[in-house]
Amino acid sequence: MTKKALITGLTGQDGSYLAELLLNKGYQVFGLVRRSSSSNLERINHLSGDIQILSGDLLDQSSLMDVIAEAQPDEIYNLASQSYVPLSWTQPALTAEYTALGVSRLLESIRRCKPDAKFYQASSSEVFGQPDESPQTELTAFRPRNPYGVAKAYAHWMTVNYRQKYNLYNCCGITYTHESPRRGTEFVFRKITHAAAQIKLGLANELKLGNLDARRDWCYAKDAVYAMWLMLQQEQPDDYLIASGETYSVKELVECAFNCVGLNWQDYVSVDPAFYRADEPVQLVGCIDKIKIGIGWQPQYSFNQLVELMVDYDLKKLSS
Ligand code: NAP
Repeated sequence: MTKKALITGLTGQDGSYLAELLLNKGYQVFGLVRRSSSSNLERINHLSGDIQILSGDLLDQSSLMDVIAEAQPDEIYNLASQSYVPLSWTQPALTAEYTALGVSRLLESIRRCKPDAKFYQASSSEVFGQPDESPQTELTAFRPRNPYGVAKAYAHWMTVNYRQKYNLYNCCGITYTHESPRRGTEFVFRKITHAAAQIKLGLANELKLGNLDARRDWCYAKDAVYAMWLMLQQEQPDDYLIASGETYSVKELVECAFNCVGLNWQDYVSVDPAFYRADEPVQLVGCIDKIKIGIGWQPQYSFNQLVELMVDYDLKKLSS
């Protein structure tokens, strides 16, 4: 029988890649999309004939119940959230509404309308904030340091609590930063790869960045969504870190991106303290032993391959 999946956050980076993966696996895919005054379907336009889009919003419980009742999904992936950390400081209450309470509404809707559905919650390494240990594991204490991380921690524990209390098949994937050509240029990885392509093509001549020594655990969004799917194919629900297990500095990223276009980064890049992150996380890097040994997942793309494919994408897009 054809499996049915519902994705919230379909219009986002991960939602679009997950929809492609599930369609390739023969799923019937439903996407929850909130109303907006202009189209936000750019990332999924190429799939529009294959996906059933249902109107709903994490702010509205009845819309979530209607969508679940209509789709009758076997699997539900909650990828929707206010996902930009700096904005969570200027809109903390709205971030909590979407990213924390939105998950309560969704869990309650699943419990009432489709309790046998398998559920994936997009947790984030930002729950660790200022961790006691590095690398982190699934047992590392949560010490979030921004409203986004706090909201994700709430959503994470609600998902675990609904699993324990109601015996639902609920999983949390604690993802570290993952990137792709579909990432917005407000995120540093895409900002750099996009700028390298722009500078190469003569469309820009400088790139201002914050802390070049900041290190991140980066992986490819396509690898991350495969882990999400794999987690829901197991007999027992569980929570896993989804990471590369390695860190690279912003400087290494800049060097790699400018090497891809044959330029010396030092001729174009300057440091602007305005871009420093006040709440810079302390060495966030995931130990991926549990997901590797437990369910056989590991990233397929290296850091260098990821940089290269993103620079290539922007070179082609900007030249067309
Ligand atoms: P994204 O590109 O920012 O997409 C967020 C999605 O959420 C968009 O489709 C957005 O819809 C939707 N959304 C926001 N508020 C909503 C609401 N009230 N009701 C319904 N939908 C709403 O995020 P992403 O990069 O794909 O990330 C996917 C998930 O993983 C997010 O939960 C994010 O917090 C988490 N995560 C991401 C990373 C990463 O590196 N990418 C790392 C850790 C965790 P609109 O198009 O209408 O705005």
